[in-house]
Amino acid sequence: MDLGIRGKWAIVCASSKGLGRGCAEALAAEGVNLVMNARTPGPLEAAAEAIRTAHGVEVIAVAADITTETGRAEVLAACPAPDILVTNAGGPPPGMWHEWSRDDFIRAIDANMLTPIALMQATMPKMIERGWGRIVNITSVSVKAPIPVLGLSNAARAGLTGFVAGVARQVAKDGVIINNLLPGIHDTDRAKALDENAAKASGQSVAEVRRAREASIPAGRYGTPEEFGAICAFLCSAHVGFVVGQNILVDGGAANISI
Ligand code: NAP
Repeated sequence: MDLGIRGKWAIVCASSKGLGRGCAEALAAEGVNLVMNARTPGPLEAAAEAIRTAHGVEVIAVAADITTETGRAEVLAACPAPDILVTNAGGPPPGMWHEWSRDDFIRAIDANMLTPIALMQATMPKMIERGWGRIVNITSVSVKAPIPVLGLSNAARAGLTGFVAGVARQVAKDGVIINNLLPGIHDTDRAKALDENAAKASGQSVAEVRRAREASIPAGRYGTPEEFGAICAFLCSAHVGFVVGQNILVDGGAANISI
């Protein structure tokens, strides 16, 4: 299937590795030019170069913290009017309900709620003017099935989900399609860090924790950034004009939610 997005420009935030990288790769494979972003310049440049070589698209790499106003300004300066926006940032740390301070909540809300909202507000006017835009927010399975140790993430992502539910329905008639993609456990550094945290807390080995988590997923394994990226690219395609404001689970069936 031709996704109908060849030659368009996408900003893919937090994309030097993991799920963001999977989305960048899949869009590039469809002929989409990219602004890629992450904080650490070396791995970001390496990822950008690998994508240029593999797919022959233009890639601009912007090393910046997307959760800061200056970081967002640098990314937007590289591409002020993208056709496609994929929002993403690192997830908040795990912990217990009594450990989190007001500052911890503000940091999580800044990174995982207010940052994607600011990026949407900055890019949507031009999308509306053109009558075409696609936005995918990478959130989490925790939106539908909150994860106890990820209270900061649960809280911030719930706020973003509420905002998107409204705005997606306000701009759909202008050709701007916004959806959220909700990863369950995927084989990235983030998942490895959470496995290590669970191993420390339970006294099990990291391998034991991983086996138990894999067994809890009906698909019997962690997801991959490649398959996650392919779904993201489809949600950025010409074919999703009637898919509006959805929260799409990509979790191997782990959250047993029938509606
Ligand atoms: P990852 O493998 O750790 O990759 C994170 C990527 O984001 C890296 O490229 C990192 O590069 C970049 N990044 C992190 N913070 C950034 C910032 N402030 N500004 C710009 N770039 C930043 O993580 P992942 O597994 O892909 O997770 C991506 C998102 O999905 C997170 O919010 C995570 O909570 C959520 N999620 C993941 C899973 C999972 O199983 N993997 C499940 C549910 C939800 P630098 O460090 O160089 O900045």
